[in-house]
Amino acid sequence: MEYCFGVDIGGTTVKIGLFSRKKGLLEKWEIPTRKGTEPTPLLKDIKYEIEECLNRNDLKKEHLAGIGMAAPGPVTEDGCLRGTVNIGWGDVFLGNEAEDLISVSPIFIGNDARVAALGEYTFGAGKEVNSLLMVTLGTGVGGGVILNGKILAGVSGTAGEIGHMTMNPYEEEQCNCGKKGCLEQYASAQGMVRVARKVLVNTDKPSVLREMDVLTAKKLWDAGKIGDALALELTEYISRMLGMAIANACYIVDPEMVVLGGGVSQAGEFLLDMVQRAYAENVFPHCRDKKFALAKLRNDAGIFGAAALVFQSVN
Ligand SMILES: [Zn+2]
Repeated sequence: MEYCFGVDIGGTTVKIGLFSRKKGLLEKWEIPTRKGTEPTPLLKDIKYEIEECLNRNDLKKEHLAGIGMAAPGPVTEDGCLRGTVNIGWGDVFLGNEAEDLISVSPIFIGNDARVAALGEYTFGAGKEVNSLLMVTLGTGVGGGVILNGKILAGVSGTAGEIGHMTMNPYEEEQCNCGKKGCLEQYASAQGMVRVARKVLVNTDKPSVLREMDVLTAKKLWDAGKIGDALALELTEYISRMLGMAIANACYIVDPEMVVLGGGVSQAGEFLLDMVQRAYAENVFPHCRDKKFALAKLRNDAGIFGAAALVFQSVN
C-alpha cells in the first residue's frame, strides 16, 4: 500500500503520475484525452497505462493504496461528477465506474481545480498552512478551498467556483457558463485578451499592444512589466477584479493563505503583488493581512492533489 496513481483528466490530455508515499512522484507522463458521450473508452486507456506502468516497475495492484482522479467538472461529496462539458459526459459516478473497470479500489474523484488546490496544500505553496483558497488563472478561472486538509466540495460540487462569481451585473457579453459578468470573463487568459481588445479599439493611447499580431495574456502582462502605460491600466483593472473576487470569497471561508496558480500566474511576483494590493484595498480591515503565494507545482498540481486524495484517506 506504499504506492498510488494520481490522474488528472483534462480536456485535451490526461496526466498520470506514479507516487510513492515515502519518495513522492516517481514517474509521470501524459496521453491524449479520448472524448465521447461516456467515460468507458477513456477509462480503458487509463487502465492500460496503469497496468503497463505497474509491469515496468515490477509492481502489482496489491501494492496500490488506490488511485486519485481529477476531472473538469463539479464533483459532489458523494462522488458524482456532474456534466463534463469539455469531454462530453453527463453525470457519472466516475470513481465507481473506474473501480469496476480498472479493478483497483478505492478510486477517489475530485474537481480538477479543487484537487490542484489540495496538491498545493499538501506538497506545494500551502505546506505550512491549515487552510487555503487557490485561484487558477488559465483558459478559465478555477478555484478550490481546502479547510483542515479537506476539499470543500459542497452539496452541488461547486464550492470554490470563484470563476463564476458575478463581478459586473451590467456586462452584455455572455460567459461560457451562460451567465453574464463572471470573473472568468475578465480574469481568464481569454477574458484578459477580450478586455484588452475592447479597450484598444476605444482609445487612441499609444501602446506596444497595438503592434502585436496575436495578443495573449502573457504578452499583456509582459507589456505591463516593462511599463507600457495602457498595459499597466489593463493589468490593474484585471487585478482589481481578482482582488475583489478573492476578498468576497474570503468573507465566507477566511483561509490562512491565497494561492494563485495556472498558466497566467507565471507572470510571477508582478501579478501576485498587484492582486494582493487590490485585495487589501477591497477587503474588511480584519482580514487584510492575508498570506498570498504563487503556486509551486505548476502543471503537476492535479496529479499531486489526486495522489493526496489517496494517501490522506488510506493508510
Ligand atoms: Zn460564468
